[in-house]
Amino acid sequence: MIANWAREWEEKVASRLEQITREPGGCRPWDVEAVRRTKALPVYSDLSGFIVLSLTGELLFYDTESEAIRPLDDPLWKRVALVSLVEKYPEFRQILPSPPPEAIACEGCSGSGRAMNGRVLCGGCGGFGWIEEKQDAA
Ligand SMILES: [Zn+2]
Repeated sequence: MIANWAREWEEKVASRLEQITREPGGCRPWDVEAVRRTKALPVYSDLSGFIVLSLTGELLFYDTESEAIRPLDDPLWKRVALVSLVEKYPEFRQILPSPPPEAIACEGCSGSGRAMNGRVLCGGCGGFGWIEEKQDAA
């Protein structure tokens, strides 16, 4: 579950899900399909599948080929998911964690969180713009 998950986030997810279900024409068709399959909010997609956010604050990966849904475990992908969530649905801005005191600016993106002239999220920090030094040792 996302660290600071609270009732207010659940309501925001529910509201977005309701909106997508009610007005599917205003959404990307694959997002509508992902909602139908997972009952969760699509936050990121690529050729392999979707990352979705459930009402209970779980980040899940929906594999479009096998149609399997599994928890998203990779810490870097969890960061990508959170940053993508906020970019797509700005009302979730407060869900992004603040850098802890020991955090340092990511060298890969100089703290911007983006790479390739801003087109993609940085693979070093997942879009946060900072990393925890001790994370690399783990
Ligand atoms: Zn970075």
